Amino acid sequence: MSEVISVENIRKYYMAYKIGILDRLAGRKPVYVRAVDDVTLDINSGETMGLIGESGSGKTTLGKLLVTLEEPDSGKYIFMGREVNRSSISWVRDNVAMIFQNPYSSLNPRLTVKEIISEPLGHMDEKRVIEVMELVGLNYKEHGGKRPRELSGGQVQRVAVARAIAKKNAKFIVLDEPTSALDASLQAQVLNLLIDIKRKLGLTYLFITHNIAVAYYISDRVAIMYAGKVVEYGDKEEIFRNPAHPYTQSLMASIPTMNKKELQPPTGEVPSLINPPSGCRFHPRCPFAMDICKQKEPPLVQYGKRKVACWLHNQ
Ligand code: SF4
Repeated sequence: MSEVISVENIRKYYMAYKIGILDRLAGRKPVYVRAVDDVTLDINSGETMGLIGESGSGKTTLGKLLVTLEEPDSGKYIFMGREVNRSSISWVRDNVAMIFQNPYSSLNPRLTVKEIISEPLGHMDEKRVIEVMELVGLNYKEHGGKRPRELSGGQVQRVAVARAIAKKNAKFIVLDEPTSALDASLQAQVLNLLIDIKRKLGLTYLFITHNIAVAYYISDRVAIMYAGKVVEYGDKEEIFRNPAHPYTQSLMASIPTMNKKELQPPTGEVPSLINPPSGCRFHPRCPFAMDICKQKEPPLVQYGKRKVACWLHNQ
């Protein structure tokens, strides 16, 4: 399977607050939030890569980097065999789209559904709008002239999907918690719709979620993100059945199931991305932490059909 996405040591830091000339004169240094810190990942053509992690772990920033809504500070990004840089960025943008968690705030409330869907095309193409509306189960005559506030949550998320696939050459879509605002039955409908559209159009997805059951349902492979780092990624079955990284193990132990009597979520707090722990960022919460974990960051190494960054698996 060919790679659509390959990122190597990609990094994005945000300045926590602006420092002025007086701060500089006083010797104060800028403070950075290390949202994505040297992430390496590949995504294969036609697959859904589930990106799992707690809030504030850098998932959305990584998604934005991959659709070029953010520019990395460093690292290498290859999209469909071409390095992403200033000269290739508009071509990449033609091939990617992102769907956000809350379509009511991400779609322009003043535009009608048909205007929203045709926006990425740069002009009104009624034939294409009808085509994609049918694909997502909306009716042009019934819904085309409505505005987002006149639609239900499930319908408006379908509009967001139609907008993302309106460009005929869309190949790669980042879906940022697209079903977390929906109730269970609508969530299932939208998930099935996304699977169906991916198959029909030959798309590749990065599906961001903190819902592990949803990630298992929709993904082919999964990546686990912790404090700005991908700590484990690869084959879904292998990771869910036999998680290698202690953070992944604690995430799996926190999924409620019918026969579980007790849930064991990770103990302690998610670390600050301004001043993350040294070495392995999970070490203050890890029951297996060793001396080396506090001093040296574990590299991502092959372990079965997945990669993992943990000293337990890199002796
Ligand atoms: Fe735990 Fe050490 Fe592995 Fe980090 S590297 S997860 S602290 S055992």
